[in-house]
Amino acid sequence: MTAPTAARPAPSRSRPRLRGLAAAAPEEVADGVWVLRGGLLRTMNVYLVRDDERGGVLVYDAGEKGMAASIVAAAAAHGGISRVVLGHADTDHRGSAPALRAYADVLCHPDAVEQAQGSGGRDYWRTETLPLDVRLLHGFSHRFLWDGGPVHVDGTVREGDVLAGFEVVDLAGHAPGLIGLWRERDRVALVSDCFYMTDMHGRPQPRPCRWTPTTSTPRRRSGRSPSSRRCGRRSSSPGHLGPLTGPDVVAQLEAAAA
Ligand SMILES: [Zn+2]
Repeated sequence: MTAPTAARPAPSRSRPRLRGLAAAAPEEVADGVWVLRGGLLRTMNVYLVRDDERGGVLVYDAGEKGMAASIVAAAAAHGGISRVVLGHADTDHRGSAPALRAYADVLCHPDAVEQAQGSGGRDYWRTETLPLDVRLLHGFSHRFLWDGGPVHVDGTVREGDVLAGFEVVDLAGHAPGLIGLWRERDRVALVSDCFYMTDMHGRPQPRPCRWTPTTSTPRRRSGRSPSSRRCGRRSSSPGHLGPLTGPDVVAQLEAAAA
């Protein structure tokens, strides 16, 4: 695979109607945090975080490739994109990142760089362990809906860094360099694919679950389990559907991790 170029792409043009198809209007899920739900089933989450350090909004996770124009338009209402942080590098999380580089730097954990600039997780996805229909669905989605291709990574972030008032945390499982953003003051966590609120078909589930160990083997084990308190006590926002809120967030995540 050829390495992605460091040259910036041209800003993308789009029509409002097409943007409406790609994603719903942003919803505020916490103070200064909005979720943009994209994809046909609106299961692909991209978060905008008010970035007082840089101005504009930080984009956490980049969703599928068709969401790029929706992300740009939603961010423009808040002063534009300050930086793009990938929760991890799987194709459905880096999808629009190549297009967003027209506006801002793309950052991820050092352990996710190789995949962000390479196969987008296909090196470690264990698709042979999935049921045939799921394998076909994911294969089609990866190729035609999710992946915008390798993205040049402009810089890295790691546990303990503070971005837009959130602390970067390492999260266990799923993918190399999976990171979340955690804000102590109101106990809000953005956690990418640390846990799921969908099944493998993208169908909503009433309780959080982890099904990813059957589909991927992280090369590097990071320090915390999803039962960690840092997955969010008041509100934990995953990469697909959610957020999970309420007084029993920790108990629900501990049950999912058991
Ligand atoms: Zn995902």
